[in-house]
Amino acid sequence: MKNNHSEIFTPGSIIGIMGGGQLGRMTALAAANLGYRCHIYTDEINTPAAQVSEQVTIASYEDIEALTQFAETVDVITYEFENIPLSTANLLSQLKVLRPSPSVLAISQHRAYEKDFAIQNGVRVAPYKAIKGIDDLEPAVEMLGTPCVLKTCRFGYDGKGQIKINSFDEIEPAWNQLCGHDLVLEKFIKFEREISVIVARDVNHHTKVYQPVENRHVNHILDTTIVPANITEKTTNLATTMSLMLANSLNLIGLLAVEMFVMEDESVIMNEIAPRPHNSGHWTQDGSQTSQFEQFVRAITGQPLGETGMIRPITMKNLIGNAIDQVPVFFNDSNAKIHLYGKAEVRPGRKMGHINIITKN
Ligand code: AMP
Repeated sequence: MKNNHSEIFTPGSIIGIMGGGQLGRMTALAAANLGYRCHIYTDEINTPAAQVSEQVTIASYEDIEALTQFAETVDVITYEFENIPLSTANLLSQLKVLRPSPSVLAISQHRAYEKDFAIQNGVRVAPYKAIKGIDDLEPAVEMLGTPCVLKTCRFGYDGKGQIKINSFDEIEPAWNQLCGHDLVLEKFIKFEREISVIVARDVNHHTKVYQPVENRHVNHILDTTIVPANITEKTTNLATTMSLMLANSLNLIGLLAVEMFVMEDESVIMNEIAPRPHNSGHWTQDGSQTSQFEQFVRAITGQPLGETGMIRPITMKNLIGNAIDQVPVFFNDSNAKIHLYGKAEVRPGRKMGHINIITKN
């Protein structure tokens, strides 16, 4: 393992980023501001991240030769999405420093491991059961009650790979759709609102935490993030403490986004974690002392972390699919900060960009 936990990479070093999406793009832009250079590894052509980076490798995430060559050209490696194969992360970590480490990836790319890890560390999650076969499902639905949600453990995002089960009749159709994957059944939570917290942790184990933000979803896709979140001090403290505990227990170097449900009694339940910049952290680009992307670059290169205070309230609005057509309106609004991802093809549900709207309160 190349992971020298305290190694520092100075400006001028090359950051290898696994993944070519918008999170990689905005990380590469922040890296450039700090004098770092980026090499993107992706399996697609003309990706948002490759458009703004010095070097790009286009190859399969399992191409050992291409991965080895890529590692030779960079100083430190990170990833902008969780679904790179664990074997790839292990290989890369033997060749160069990989931050966050493969052990963090292993937990965060599997819903059941993530929940087990949370519980072991005293963090509350929705009641759940790992589902290995159809025979597990009916007793699990009986135990958790309806409604409940059947989810794939891997490769789920933006509501993909999950089905709500409202009654016993819906067990078989749900199984038919998702069988073949590792699955988890969760109790359906009647939450008051959804929030998230982003924590940064550096090579010296110092942490900085952004305040909780409120997330509104449409069709399971994040639509709007409101900062500050309309939550009590008790909820803020619980959410912050829980997020810091998770980052410390993972021995994270990098960023951790923690998605949570806020309950009627002001308590919080963890939904899922992501060890990377997160859509709900985009507000920081225009509303915080340090953007989450700059913070991510600081953390993985071993630099000190920036301050995370809010400098002005922001509402972040995702531009999903045809919403990109509204961009001309935002060009005429001095309170609208426009961030577009350079994606040529508009598809329903595709994140094309986002707008950070500076609000009064
Ligand atoms: P996830 O992919 O787990 O982040 O789920 C996407 C969205 O589905 C969440 O942000 C919630 O709005 C909703 N959701 C997921 N799990 C549950 C649950 N157990 N109970 C209620 N809503 C859920």
